[in-house]
Amino acid sequence: MAGLRIVGRALVDGKLLDEVTVEIDGEFISSVSIGESGSGPRLLLSKGQLLLPSATDLHVHLRDWDQAYKEDVFTGTSAAAAGGITTIAEMPNTVPPIRSPEALRERLKLLATRAVVDYAVHIGPLKKPEDASRALELGACGMKLYPEDLERLEDYLRVSRESGIRLVVHAELKGGDEVETVKMLLSYVKAGDDIRLAHISRAESLRIIELAKKELGARITVEATPHHLLLSYEELDENSRRISTVRPPLASMSDRQYIFSGLKRCSVDFIASDHAPHTLEEKLSGKNAPGFPGLEITYPLMLTEWFEDRLDISTLVKKLCRAPAEYLGIPKGEIKKGFYADLAVFDMRERWSISAKDFLSKAKYTPFEGRKLSAKLISVFRRGELIYNGELIAKGGGIHVSELRQKHG
Ligand SMILES: [Zn+2]
Repeated sequence: MAGLRIVGRALVDGKLLDEVTVEIDGEFISSVSIGESGSGPRLLLSKGQLLLPSATDLHVHLRDWDQAYKEDVFTGTSAAAAGGITTIAEMPNTVPPIRSPEALRERLKLLATRAVVDYAVHIGPLKKPEDASRALELGACGMKLYPEDLERLEDYLRVSRESGIRLVVHAELKGGDEVETVKMLLSYVKAGDDIRLAHISRAESLRIIELAKKELGARITVEATPHHLLLSYEELDENSRRISTVRPPLASMSDRQYIFSGLKRCSVDFIASDHAPHTLEEKLSGKNAPGFPGLEITYPLMLTEWFEDRLDISTLVKKLCRAPAEYLGIPKGEIKKGFYADLAVFDMRERWSISAKDFLSKAKYTPFEGRKLSAKLISVFRRGELIYNGELIAKGGGIHVSELRQKHG
């Protein structure tokens, strides 16, 4: 049976081509060809529209459980779909936290019934280190360490070396500075280690990491968030400052410019939203509520950077789509035969402004409020199924990355 064909401008092999036919058979891309070909149902993109892979976001807090008032799995993954993101990796600092194989199993059960997009889960520092292999069998995609865990960094590095579980680190010691923490952290890293540094924000940290990437023989990867790439503290007004509290805090203009240039130098490996919703009351009360939502605007924000000529599209799509999917070991993030048909259609002619009241996330505020964008998301396919077309269509159906790997065979 002939599946759907999408015909129009698309990014193939790192190049934008004007007329491409992408054929979808079931959940996969069955062919990619130049010009229009094939028969059967067809989606013809209009001029100004663009077919790209949908994104994978390695750093997401969906809350739920005791914090379902901030966000839940359904609203959070709906926000992902509405942002062109079809796979997310969750962070384990939920309440209660995900720090045992049992908690991980519970979380996976919840995600299986409520997630709109596909998912992976990081585990927190395990109460019993010997549980690392069990967590890996259940599909944990890494172990996330928070500032309070870094005192025991050497223990966790040992667990990682023995079990093979990868580490992901929030490099900011309590009350401390990112640069000092990165230095300390890297002094323990040995050849062969696999460590991902979350949301790097300071120029000096990235310079140190760039050197370590060359010299240590370890796999050191770096995430950057749209807020650390595009916002600096001195550029915000008083009101935006109150809702833009985040860890690590927004840095200076020269910091953000250096992190941005790291995308081009390839020292920044992934763009991740660090979607971290709280209620507006919590944000405004000045209580400890770091972070803000980001799933719905990360892709359009970054694509606008390409459209306005500050970044090339191939680099951008690699950091948003292919590199994170590769990290999770799933065939997504490229328009390529045999890959999952995880796709996003953007319209580049429509200028629009970010308005957080329209977010599907429960958190309806953003430090990017009112920012003008040149990339409007039109539709999103998850494994061949249309899940968003200006409105959310899917009510669930997300699966775990281990299932994605199995199906692909
Ligand atoms: Zn986070």
